[in-house]
Amino acid sequence: MLVKLSEILGNARKRGYGVPAISAANEFTLRACIEAAEEAKSPVIILTGYYQTDGINYYNRIIEDFSCRASVPVAAMWDHSSNFKESMRGIRAGFGSIMVDRSSLPYEQNVAEVNEMVHIAHVVGVEVEAELGHVGSGVNYAVDGNSALTVPAEAASFVKETGIDCLAVAIGTAHGVYKGEPKLRFDLLEELAAKVSVPLVLHGGSGTGDDNIARACRSGICKVNVANELMRACLDSLLEDGMEGNNIYRFWPVMEKGYKQKCLHLFDVCGCSGKAWAASQGLSPKFRMQAKTEA
Ligand SMILES: [Zn+2]
Repeated sequence: MLVKLSEILGNARKRGYGVPAISAANEFTLRACIEAAEEAKSPVIILTGYYQTDGINYYNRIIEDFSCRASVPVAAMWDHSSNFKESMRGIRAGFGSIMVDRSSLPYEQNVAEVNEMVHIAHVVGVEVEAELGHVGSGVNYAVDGNSALTVPAEAASFVKETGIDCLAVAIGTAHGVYKGEPKLRFDLLEELAAKVSVPLVLHGGSGTGDDNIARACRSGICKVNVANELMRACLDSLLEDGMEGNNIYRFWPVMEKGYKQKCLHLFDVCGCSGKAWAASQGLSPKFRMQAKTEA
């Protein structure tokens, strides 16, 4: 069933687990992800970004079709929209939530641009995630050190000033392949969880390590974004199979198998396996049509 992101994250926060936000930008990865969620009886969040596909209006209809038929709660997010046009594309395509990433801007500008998008998005029933501090790429992180970690006092006022529904925080993870030993600032996370009134999000889940992810989910992280590790799992699965001769016809099923196994692992690590019961009956078609018409 298709549900609001806030319903999945609200339940996760109340019950002390996290939910993986799984990068899925085509029918194959989407099917693998939802089948894995059904097998694990877990809620799941689908992530799609401008960096993955151009045909998002059509692709979001595929997400809705899969989600409405799924036996578990599914929420869809348009990830990392970094300017007004990209954010509006996500709303126009019908995503129930968008990430409005202005984290590389100065604080005041970040607040102003996020607040503007929250105002627009909420009018048409779309929820918003924003980021404070900055989760860089693996390469940048090694260069930047701790310079962009989220400041708890700033985070609390950022949420109030912008009206966002969830907040991505920088506590030591990095996007893409992690360079060096991941050192998460759990002390900072606990302080953020105590001060911030909305669910917290962890970007750069790949390469962070199972123990770190599990502990972060017990310490206040409600959503864990993962992309790189899932793509890697597809490749590993194909290499392991060998794809010799006519085995190449099994290309998609073998790829899906690797993706699905990694998804199942992530549900366990985040602690959301078996938690699908916590959601409601899903969004009515009327809600979705209304949101789209207004958009
Ligand atoms: Zn991210």
